[in-house]
Amino acid sequence: MTQLAKFVYSPSYTQYDFGPSHPFNPLRLVATKSLIDTMGLLTPHDTIIPDLATFDELFLIHQPDYIDMVQRFQTYEDTLNPNLLRLAQDYGLGTEDDPVFPKMHQAGSLAVGGTLTAARLVASGQVLHALNIAGGLHHAKKASASGFCIYNDVAIAIKWLREHTSWKIAYIDTDAHHGDGVQQAFYDDPHVLTISLHETGQYLFPGTGSVEELGEGAGYGFSLNLPLRPYSDDESSLESLLSVVPQALAVFQPDLIVSQHGCDGHFWDPLTDLLASTYFYAQVPSLVDAWAHQFSQGRWIAVGGGGYELLRVVPRAWTLLWAQMIHQPLANSATIPSSWLEQWQSSSPEPLPRTFLDRLEDRPTTPSSFAITQQNRQTVYHLKQLVSWLQ
Ligand SMILES: [Zn+2]
Repeated sequence: MTQLAKFVYSPSYTQYDFGPSHPFNPLRLVATKSLIDTMGLLTPHDTIIPDLATFDELFLIHQPDYIDMVQRFQTYEDTLNPNLLRLAQDYGLGTEDDPVFPKMHQAGSLAVGGTLTAARLVASGQVLHALNIAGGLHHAKKASASGFCIYNDVAIAIKWLREHTSWKIAYIDTDAHHGDGVQQAFYDDPHVLTISLHETGQYLFPGTGSVEELGEGAGYGFSLNLPLRPYSDDESSLESLLSVVPQALAVFQPDLIVSQHGCDGHFWDPLTDLLASTYFYAQVPSLVDAWAHQFSQGRWIAVGGGGYELLRVVPRAWTLLWAQMIHQPLANSATIPSSWLEQWQSSSPEPLPRTFLDRLEDRPTTPSSFAITQQNRQTVYHLKQLVSWLQ
């Protein structure tokens, strides 16, 4: 019998750790799992522990020489070895964004193993929905680390699914940063539709993701981008998503939806300029769930992604996501259990919010929101002019 949803999680996810001063801190995963547990949304039967991805699986996307380089950092001494660090530079390693750390290969492989476990569960028909909050490492390229991402779990899982099924796959990425690594991996593949909604690359890493990036060769028209203006709010972001995605899915007819749920577009996130609230992070999973049931027989794999407000935002955003995946979406009035607040408050310099939905008084005011909304509408219009089947 098909189970509705599985939560893929390993306590060893915390080994993916660039150090205490780096924004990509695994504390957010522990705090998220803790909130989901405290809310009573997870039974032991719902959880599955992943294995490390194998070399053959990593090879689906990554070059052997890159994997070999990642693997060479095993001990603390390795991470200080100047010869090794010099060689690693060619692979985007040892940078401010992607510093080296001991056993980073194992840590990266485990995040990939999590998304592959989700892929296998859905491909075998055992479950309809599967979530890996340690996944969503959408910037990693075939021969380099990028933007906190060592191995590209999403691209590897989609490639694995392409090799083990005949499915067409739609990838929907609502991280504040462009999903460049996944787009690049399937840029010429008409069987994988990638859609990325993000803050415009004019102001934010990685700088790509304009509406003109549409794919190449047979894949032309199957890479779609919705670059949003800085300070875009929930309403304009959702309007942009709704203006394109349902129509694209209706034409593309995916057999599976893979979604990336980076929550770094939140107004409290320190790294981006978008102004989403947790309302957006409740609405997106609700929409993707509905689209999965409408267009892809309920098949849905979700992954985490960015999110650098470790305790005030990420745990709430991804608890809202998991609650939707088990079809128990939280009420607008849902509150954070006091036991969770007591456990985590001392780790947060700011007071932790007490409700899942952000309070109106916490939301920043946007004096020019009308102009921003108009500019985002122009972007959607521009994209539709370029892609005939979206008109
Ligand atoms: Zn569902």
